[in-house]
Amino acid sequence: MFRLDECLSRIHDASLPDLNDLEQVLSLNGKDELNELFLFADGIRKKFCGDGIVLRGIIEFSNFCLRECFYCGLNKNNRKLERYRMDKDELLKAVGHLVSCKIKTVVLQSGEDTGLDPFWLKDIIREIKSSFDIAVTLAVGERSEFDYKIWKEAGADRYLLKIETSDEGLYSSMHPQMDFKQRLNCLRVLNKIGYQVGSGNIIGLPGQTLKTIAQDIVFFKRNDFDMVGIGPFIPHQDTRFGGQKKADPLLSLKTIALTRIVTKNTHIPATTALGSLDKDYRVDGLKCGANVLMPNFTPQPFRKLYEIYPQKKCIDEPVGACNFCMDDMAKNLGRFIDYSKADSLKQRKVGSNV
Ligand code: SF4
Repeated sequence: MFRLDECLSRIHDASLPDLNDLEQVLSLNGKDELNELFLFADGIRKKFCGDGIVLRGIIEFSNFCLRECFYCGLNKNNRKLERYRMDKDELLKAVGHLVSCKIKTVVLQSGEDTGLDPFWLKDIIREIKSSFDIAVTLAVGERSEFDYKIWKEAGADRYLLKIETSDEGLYSSMHPQMDFKQRLNCLRVLNKIGYQVGSGNIIGLPGQTLKTIAQDIVFFKRNDFDMVGIGPFIPHQDTRFGGQKKADPLLSLKTIALTRIVTKNTHIPATTALGSLDKDYRVDGLKCGANVLMPNFTPQPFRKLYEIYPQKKCIDEPVGACNFCMDDMAKNLGRFIDYSKADSLKQRKVGSNV
């Protein structure tokens, strides 16, 4: 007979968890079983990450993209989308605003923008690091080793590059002209250069199975990422996947819970996408393993134009309003907002930013 408590202990104790165990837990839907899973994951979160909810403020500075990812509204074939690229003053002003809200990490995010001059971004990083005591995370996609290096030398601390799915066949089916091995290589190079590296996946992609999700969780463990973002798939009408089904929120939550149990001290956000489903599931995410929130500091009118998926949470909120909302969320959970830089919890990386 299947015993969930024994299965969770096995998953927790294994150096690499068994795929069948992970798949079995991902298939559970009973209320009591889910409660048991989520409580277990929450206990691991408390033990390895504490009660602080860490903040990463995002500024989406360009929505140009040369890629054609089938699930993403920024794909280059979406001619309906008005494109923008913020200039240096607009970007630094947004960073100043974020700092005034006590946020200690800025995530500079864009599509894979061929117009992004690496030296322009290097200057921005330098200026941010000399003006403010904050961590800089980059999320600008696949770039050359040279670019990654000069940004690191300029002071960038972290880099986010989601694998989206660790299944090569599935990856290729929705990323035309992209090479899975090249993506893996970028992750390897980022790690070698000394970034704190974040990755992650999308739950509910067409063609994805419980087995491929289980493989993703093992992939996260193998690579010992500093952060793992797990976001539900939300179809965008102007993409190849426009007519597909939205992700099951419960499957996203189960994946968060298992990723917490397996990776222990990895930073895991309750993503904005999780807050953008039929209800705001970020609170549920924080209750089953997540320890990070990612408030949006992209100023208007740009924020509305960074439409990876529709009906994004907080799209009309004034910049900075997030603080109240997040403080409330933390209080209601009996936790607190951690207004520190909150570097990687992986010992090897702490202080390695040189
Ligand atoms: S997922 Fe990223 S790389 Fe793909 S189209 Fe969207 S912004 Fe571009």
